[in-house]
Amino acid sequence: MPVDKKVSFSIWYVVLAIIAIVLVHDFIVATQKLEEFPYSEFRTLLAAGKVAEVSVTQQRVTGKLKAEEGAKEQKLFTTIRVEDPDLVKELNARNVTFSGVIESTFLRDLLSWIIPAVIFAGIWFFIIRRFGQGQGGFMTVGQSKAKIYAEKVTKVTFADVAGVDEAKEELREVIEFLKTPEKFTRLGGKIPKGILLIGPPGTGKTLLARAVAGEAGVTFFSISGSEFVEMFVGVGAARVRDLFEQAKGKAPCIIFIDELDAIGKARGAGPMAHEEREQTLNQLLVEMDGFDPRIGVILMAATNRPEILDPALLRAGRFDRQVLVDRPDKIGRLAILRVHAKKVTLGLDADLEMIAGMTPGFSGADLANIINEATLLAVRRDKEQVGLPELQEAVERVVAGLEKKNRVLNKMEKERVAHHEVGHALVALSFPGADPIQKISIIPRGIAALGYTLQLPTEDRFLMTKTELENKIAVLLGGRNAEELIFGEASTGAQNDLVKATDIAKSMVKSYGMSDKLGTVTLDRERQPLLMQIQATQEKGDYSEETAREIDCEVRRIIDEQYDRVRWLLAEQKRALIEGAKVLLDREVISGSDLKAIMDNH
Ligand code: ADP
Ligand code: ZN
Repeated sequence: MPVDKKVSFSIWYVVLAIIAIVLVHDFIVATQKLEEFPYSEFRTLLAAGKVAEVSVTQQRVTGKLKAEEGAKEQKLFTTIRVEDPDLVKELNARNVTFSGVIESTFLRDLLSWIIPAVIFAGIWFFIIRRFGQGQGGFMTVGQSKAKIYAEKVTKVTFADVAGVDEAKEELREVIEFLKTPEKFTRLGGKIPKGILLIGPPGTGKTLLARAVAGEAGVTFFSISGSEFVEMFVGVGAARVRDLFEQAKGKAPCIIFIDELDAIGKARGAGPMAHEEREQTLNQLLVEMDGFDPRIGVILMAATNRPEILDPALLRAGRFDRQVLVDRPDKIGRLAILRVHAKKVTLGLDADLEMIAGMTPGFSGADLANIINEATLLAVRRDKEQVGLPELQEAVERVVAGLEKKNRVLNKMEKERVAHHEVGHALVALSFPGADPIQKISIIPRGIAALGYTLQLPTEDRFLMTKTELENKIAVLLGGRNAEELIFGEASTGAQNDLVKATDIAKSMVKSYGMSDKLGTVTLDRERQPLLMQIQATQEKGDYSEETAREIDCEVRRIIDEQYDRVRWLLAEQKRALIEGAKVLLDREVISGSDLKAIMDNH
């Protein structure tokens, strides 16, 4: 905060000034040529009547000698003071002017005290300010990580958020409340306290929360749960307290906690209960219970893993209102593309509707990224407008990561990758109704993929049949199988495919009840297939060892079955596989229809 900075700055000015004074003082003293005598010599000179005046301090006797004949200047001297009770008598007897200059040493002594004290206090002050206020403050290096961001006016409005109309509808009431809390309470409306936005990453949860603040014209406080993770015990809790304190002072306002799951994981979960996280979570619960939404503070939070949240967070009076922010459908994608395309100049050929059709499953962030990439491409190509070719290439880039042309594969590797990719594609082409193959490439992209087969669904899918899932597994196994067929053995390149295939098989057995042996049950209570995603579930469900073994057996059976099917299928198409790989090696990229033509010819 700027105020703190000013305070610590002025302290540093004072310290500097004092240091400067002391240095100047020492400099002046040093420039007068002081001669250092032993005390005995001073006494001799005094006895000889050569001393003109002295000043006596606790430690020293400093003074002037009488000017010697011919010399213009009086000599200055200093000597260490020795315990000498007769000194004053002697000085009197010799008629020497003497004075105590205790003040000046007093000042120096004082300064030698004050300076370190001020410097120390300065450092102390600085550390405390830097590393947080309140309890446990300055013991915590690294606390600065969990920053509270306050935006006085967010310029984001609902017009900037597209494709999530239902979520927007649900949040309208919150805006109404923040605008006129009095009216709301007078009419006895049920005031929302905590709103949890649930959805995959990049679907615009943060954007929505900011838009709510923007629409209502209130301050937007935000903090991210993941920043709490590495903190020392007690610090996270202090930060939470601080956050609510600040927000209450600025009501009406919104407090937004991103990645709530990082703090809000179920207590006692995980291999070692994380004490810091528990304290932070407890503090959050305390604060939530302690504030009255009528003061005009609304708490919002986002997560993409609602199933791992501590149930206490979802209880009445806490995050009891949940808003789903899902990936957009085709109309939503078009709307999002349009929002972001407003900031760039589009060519007449830039068919956003077509791009929306090509991108099922993309999040808002992915779509924003497409427009951005396309603009960069257009700039690089010296074009005035962003055209369809740029948009299409941007889609590919976002799908597969950036092209890495400089990665050179040796000839053997290239051949292997070509057969592997054609293997995937041939299997996919053999299934009627499978998602069409857009293109097959052996230009390496990103970190992991040496080649890729781009298979995009034509429509949004909300359901998949058992056969479709099995086909998906088969396509994934096609790469490895083609390698075995042609080269007699598999390579490490197929590992990622196997992981994905196994995940699908596991979901079929555990979540979708698609195994005859285990029957139509969901063994996977922890996961809600809410967002229609097939994802790995490593957590152990609540079933026995024996069931676990049966699940493994079933997964293996499903994979084996598909593997046999693919082996048979590819053996049948071996000539198309060889020919397709040859063309692919030659051209590096071929389309799905190219391969289909080769397939039909062999
Ligand atoms: P989340 O919080 O869900 O992970 P963000 O709100 O951070 O996602 O979204 C990241 C960026 O993606 C936004 O700043 C915005 O540019 C874009 N974006 C995401 N969803 C949308 C949407 N529904 N409408 C418009 N832009 C979006
Ligand atoms: Zn593969």
